[in-house]
Amino acid sequence: MTVAPSPASCLRCRNCGAEYPLIAIHACAECFGPLEVGYDQATLSAVTREQIEAGPQNIWRYAPLLPVGQDPDSRASLNPGMTKLVRADRLGAELGFTAPLWVKDDSGNPTHAFKDRVVSMAMTAAKGLGYTSVACASTGNLANSVAAHAARVGWQATVFIPSDLEAMKVVASSVYAPRLVAVDGSYDDVNRLTSELGETDEFEKTAFVNQNVRPYYAEGSKTLGYEVAEQLGWKLPAQVVIPIASGSLLTKIDKAFGELVRIGLVEDTPWKVFGAQSLGCSPVYEAFQAGHDVVRPVRPTGIAKSLNIGNPADGPYVLDAVRRTGGSIAVADDDDIREGISLLARTTGVFAETAGGVTVSCLAKLVKDGLIDTSQETVVYNTGEGLKTAEVLDVSPTHRIKPSLKSAAEAGLID
Ligand SMILES: *Cc1c(COP(=O)(O)O)cnc(C)c1O
Ligand SMILES: [Zn+2]
Repeated sequence: MTVAPSPASCLRCRNCGAEYPLIAIHACAECFGPLEVGYDQATLSAVTREQIEAGPQNIWRYAPLLPVGQDPDSRASLNPGMTKLVRADRLGAELGFTAPLWVKDDSGNPTHAFKDRVVSMAMTAAKGLGYTSVACASTGNLANSVAAHAARVGWQATVFIPSDLEAMKVVASSVYAPRLVAVDGSYDDVNRLTSELGETDEFEKTAFVNQNVRPYYAEGSKTLGYEVAEQLGWKLPAQVVIPIASGSLLTKIDKAFGELVRIGLVEDTPWKVFGAQSLGCSPVYEAFQAGHDVVRPVRPTGIAKSLNIGNPADGPYVLDAVRRTGGSIAVADDDDIREGISLLARTTGVFAETAGGVTVSCLAKLVKDGLIDTSQETVVYNTGEGLKTAEVLDVSPTHRIKPSLKSAAEAGLID
């Protein structure tokens, strides 16, 4: 079975270029390289701005550029997307920007992280391919989104998470009543286990969103590039700052910008891609600094749990995108991450999870090191909601008073 007709024409190996039909596979039979969706370029080139603008206020407005979901009835989706692009003038002023600085706030999605985009693509592909159950290995947000999507369409979901996740990430999966499997190990252990489970008879009829249908999954992240370009009035930002876990999000935003140029929906202006990692899990940063093309796996630590992938599948492609565009990669330690969360919150009104703290802290660092040009329009991506990782913040009331004016005066609130 293959997915319904769409602008997608094949799955193509990113290493050797071998082509496959649009089925549920993710690795090349020739060289084990990762597969990516290939498109019919003439079909893409016929897409117009007006056609997209006439679409719904969610990711499906870009259906003419996506591999699945052209027919609304074919979608298995919470209809995420068209999240706010927030003009961050006060943050920009604090960092010394003279050009506009924007926050693409993807905490506004149905399950409060960008993962709804990729899950909508994966599950719509899975539906077309005849699946009725879904699973994933997750650092938290993916499990939340898979569980919610499955609840919406009535599928069984089995989500596998490391057993040490934040309490709210666990709640935000379990409320949708999936089979929620906590594994005593790191995300990379969980991922290895689900690869093995995917080969068993019991899971033969299950779509693993980030395994057997991963090529479709990954295309969902492109909508974060398309939306920013459209929201800026159909132009590319000069600089973007993006968090890295597996690296898929970063590579797909870069790919989306390239596609928009190639098919003539935006002018061909240069863009630089900057990556953000947590110091507790910085294998791509290390490779970038060392000038290596390969990424050496690490054992993750630190509070940015949603980014704690020690063996990032798209690491080498991240290095490509960052080097090709003239960007860079920065790291933030746990204290930096907390400061990044506070800085964003108090200057923009956006409450980011730890991944957003990493990204904002890295933005500040890249500016300080002169790697980001403050006279160029810049977009920083907030990929998740702060309430889900609120436990990392040490907060208490600034004042504590009795319900009287006397007490308010004693606390210095009035004279
Ligand atoms: C998954 C995730 C990322 C990174 O995604 P990759 O595509 O794996 O690099 C970033 N931020 C948040 C909040 C996430 O949940
Ligand atoms: Zn290959």
